[in-house]
This record gives sequence, structure tokens and C-alpha cells, in this order.
Amino acid sequence: MAEDRIASIAQLVRDGGRSFSFEFFPPKDEAGEEQLWRAISALEPYRPTFVSVTYGAGGSSRDTTVRVTSRIARETSMTPMAHLTCVGHTRAELESILDSYAAAGIHNVMALRGDPADGPRAPWKATPGGLTYATELVELARARGDFTVGVAAFPEGHPTAESLDHDADVLVAKARAGAEFAVTQMFFRASDYFALVDRVRARGIDIPVLPGIMPILNLNAIRRQGELIGCEVPADIVARISAHEGDPAAVRAEGIALAAELCEELLAGGAPGLHFYTLNRSKATLEIFAALNMAV
Ligand SMILES: Cc1cc2nc3c(=O)[nH]c(=O)nc-3n(C[C@H](O)[C@H](O)[C@H](O)COP(=O)(O)OP(=O)(O)OC[C@H]3O[C@@H](n4cnc5c(N)ncnc54)[C@H](O)[C@@H]3O)c2cc1C
Repeated sequence: MAEDRIASIAQLVRDGGRSFSFEFFPPKDEAGEEQLWRAISALEPYRPTFVSVTYGAGGSSRDTTVRVTSRIARETSMTPMAHLTCVGHTRAELESILDSYAAAGIHNVMALRGDPADGPRAPWKATPGGLTYATELVELARARGDFTVGVAAFPEGHPTAESLDHDADVLVAKARAGAEFAVTQMFFRASDYFALVDRVRARGIDIPVLPGIMPILNLNAIRRQGELIGCEVPADIVARISAHEGDPAAVRAEGIALAAELCEELLAGGAPGLHFYTLNRSKATLEIFAALNMAV
């Protein structure tokens, strides 16, 4: 049975430890479910600090988040964290989902606003009786149960933030509301991450900020996603990957090498760990681990 709480990441960092974690999404069908559990089994021996499961935009994927996260709590040695968003939910519904997390032994919640149905850059429309900002969900989760709460951070700024300073103010507000750590959106320049951490520290907040790592295995897909969420793939990275165009194995190897270089730079610069976007597969994450000489 898993420990049911993320041992304080702040404490882990103070003690000189580093946090390694893996993120999954709710699978859509049986084949996806099998692929997810293969990835979970392959990654479990690496003894991550926690594993997280994202919360869908709507429909059945939301129940799948609860189901998969509960099964991780029940059947693996890993500590699960369930994501939750404000999209389409009243406060009472959010309370009821938090209660079902707690009943399933899930005591770690990633509190997010979520994106509007029309996409990350569309204006936010609050659900009647619902919440407007992630800060409110952080407060709700902290008040509702004994949850350890994580929040989102944006090294290049959230796409609708007024400025990088305002973006940092928002992260600080989430920490003051009770968030114990943050995980970043994908990014490709370590300098963007360190600048975000500096902005937050300059505001007197020492919340650990875990960098979110997404290897580029398909340049066009990552660039499209990056445009939506406000994350640029720098020209030198595009050039290094494009140099292998037509050779999928070489493109993949370069994407893994680039991710490993980013991880090394982040850890050398004092990042408190790494959070891997696995896309429900273990291979790329394990290849990065091998490049970093991280064994089981
Ligand atoms: C690590 C990570 C995990 C994620 N997981 C999921 C997931 O599981 N499911 C999902 O649907 N989405 C997920 N997302 C996407 C996320 O929901 C979107 O990026 C969303 O647009 C912002 O969420 P937030 O929690 O940062 O919102 P908020 O912190 O509420 O910020 C939203 C916007 O409002 C602004 N803002 C915040 N507070 C204030 C204020 N007081 N006054 C004025 N403006 C304010 C912010 O600058 C920002 O522009 C994830 C993102 C990250 C980085």
C-alpha cells in the first residue's frame, strides 16, 4: 500500500533530496488503459516521489482520473496525486470530488483552474456557482480535507497573464493560499525556469518549483501545442532536431539528448527535482534517465 501523502517536497529539498515524479493522463479506451499500466509498472521501480494523473476537460475522462488514481493508491507502492480543475464544476461538485479522492486514499491534489472549452487563450467563463481562479480551489482543497496541494507554474508566463511579473504574483498568491509546491508547464530554456524561480523568491516565497520535462519526439506536434499554451521551441533546438529530418530514429535520439541536457542544466542550477510528462509511455523517460546515469 502506498504512503498516502507526498512527503513534504519542501522538507525533502531542505534535507538535500530531489523529487522525481511522473505524470499520466486518463486513458480513453482499453488499449490505452493497458499501455498506461505497462508504463506505470516500468516506472514504479524508480521509486518516484509521486505520480500524477491529469483531469480531463469533461465527460468520462474525469471519472477515469478518479478511478486510475485510486487504483495507483490501492495497487502500487507509489504516492498518487490527482489533478482537479474548476472547469464546468460548481463548488459543491468540487467538494464532492475532493471527498471521493480522500475516500479513495488520495491526499495529494493538483489544484488548477483548467482551460476554457475554446482553448487556453479563450476568455474564461466561470460556471455559475463555481470558482474563477486556481487560488480558490487551493483554499477549497485545504479547507475540505487534509490535502497536500500542488499548483501550476509557467516559466514563459501563462498565455493570458498580463506580464511575467503578474504571472509570478499569481503563483505567489497560490502559495499563500496553501499550495506546497508547483510544477511547471513544459519549456525548453533553463533560463526561463530560473528567471521564474528568481521572480518568486524576490517576492519572499520559497515554494519548491518542479520543472516539467517534455522531450521533443515530434517537433511539429510540440510546436503546435507550444503555440497554444505559450511555450516557444527556441531556434537552436529546432535546428538541432531539423538537422535529422527524414531519419525518425535520429530525431528521437536528438530529442532525448536535448531533454537530458536540459535536466542536467536544471539540476546543476539547483532545481529541486524533475517532473516528467510521460504521455503514458515509459520509454522516453527511461531513455532520459539512462542519459542522466540514473539507475534503479
Ligand atoms: C503542471 C500542469 C498541470 C496541468 N494539469 C491540467 C489538468 O490536469 N487538466 C487541465 O484541464 N489542465 C491542466 N493544466 C492546464 C491549466 O489548467 C491551464 O494552464 C489553465 O489555463 C491555468 O490554470 P492555473 O491553475 O494556472 O490557473 P490560474 O492560476 O487561476 O490562472 C489562470 C489565469 O488567470 C490569471 N489569474 C490568476 N489569478 C488571478 C487574479 N487573482 N487576478 C487576475 N488574474 C488572475 C493568471 O495569470 C492566468 O492568466 C495544467 C498545467 C500545468 C502547468
